[in-house]
Amino acid sequence: MMTERFLPYARQTIEDDDIAAVAAALKSDFLTTGPLVERFETAFAAATGATHAVVCNSGTAALHLAALALDLKAGDAAVVPAMTFLSTANAVRMTGAEVVFADVDSDTALLTPETLEAALTRGRSAGQQIRAAFAVHLNGQICDMAGLGAAAKRAGIRLVEDACHALGVSGIGAAGHSAAACFSTHPVKAIATGEGGVVTTGDAEIAARMRRLRTHGMSREAAGFSDRVRGFEDDAPNPWYYEMAEIGWNYRMPDVLCALGLSQLKKLERFAARRRKIAATYGRLLAPLAPVIRPVSRASDPHGWHLYVIHVDFPALGTTRARLIKALHDEGIGSQVHYIPLHRQPYYRRRYGELSLPGAEAYYARCLSIPLFPAMTDADAERVAATLARLAKKAAA
Ligand SMILES: *Cc1c(COP(=O)(O)O)cnc(C)c1O
Repeated sequence: MMTERFLPYARQTIEDDDIAAVAAALKSDFLTTGPLVERFETAFAAATGATHAVVCNSGTAALHLAALALDLKAGDAAVVPAMTFLSTANAVRMTGAEVVFADVDSDTALLTPETLEAALTRGRSAGQQIRAAFAVHLNGQICDMAGLGAAAKRAGIRLVEDACHALGVSGIGAAGHSAAACFSTHPVKAIATGEGGVVTTGDAEIAARMRRLRTHGMSREAAGFSDRVRGFEDDAPNPWYYEMAEIGWNYRMPDVLCALGLSQLKKLERFAARRRKIAATYGRLLAPLAPVIRPVSRASDPHGWHLYVIHVDFPALGTTRARLIKALHDEGIGSQVHYIPLHRQPYYRRRYGELSLPGAEAYYARCLSIPLFPAMTDADAERVAATLARLAKKAAA
């Protein structure tokens, strides 16, 4: 039945000039850290309106670096919304701190000032030392950062943005209401480097600390050396000398991938415009299928359109999610579920017990991500909408 090429739910767009940029980097003197790291950081900061950008080798590493730079550690806790990718919570656990899962809005799946405050109350009454919260701009919708920022300020905690779905949205990266914003350049994200991540921040100290943490905690800055005897000769820093003041990781992004990132970054506006156009086509063609199939309400403007999520009333359609996914697959259309609520994962259930987060559960019961990526044609989007309409009609019959 597969009459046309299979349409995945997401896909990178790699063009000839991207390939040429990588080939040029491969022929240079640098495979890993070289001049392109700083060039990618400068270009990324300019593209997002950030003061500082620190590149690393995954979105997960970006979140971990941000958590470390805020000094999260064993004995502390951080609030993470239950509807996100595993990394957001795992980055907190990787510091030794505990996670307090917050519920989300059942329609948008976003953390709200109210769900943040409920999580703070629940965590603090259980004796948790909550020091930070992670705001996830799910699907490309932007959280109410002013509201979350005010709630965080009242509670005396720091905010970090998980902006892995929001690269290209104006103002995201400037981290005006947060300590840092974290991005991923995994192939399904707005731009692709294979694996890759970036943290942006307005705080020069946090940026410098993250640069040390991404390479073993090492520093060659003579001003910070604590060992005068080994570090200096006649007051001049020794040329081979470096110091490690705290434990770090190898989270470096290779120059080869920075070359791809620089090339892809030039296309961010064009990719974003395509995403908006496809989303508008879906919005128009799917509207008649309400209320059994309806697009997730447009929670914010601007919107990054990272994923196109529909809410499906599977019982009303007389089907299940697994059957609908299979029927779409048989028509050559990929779909995916973003995400399984984190508090339902065996690891987190064992650690924190059974939590009731009705907003996340209600969203999870209905969500389905349908294809959205820049290289899709308008005809692709029309075919997806027509297939959904046909399947809905068949199910209703
Ligand atoms: C992709 C993603 C991450 C992790 O990024 P990686 O580069 O895959 O490590 C974290 N959070 C969210 C919301 C993501 O979508």
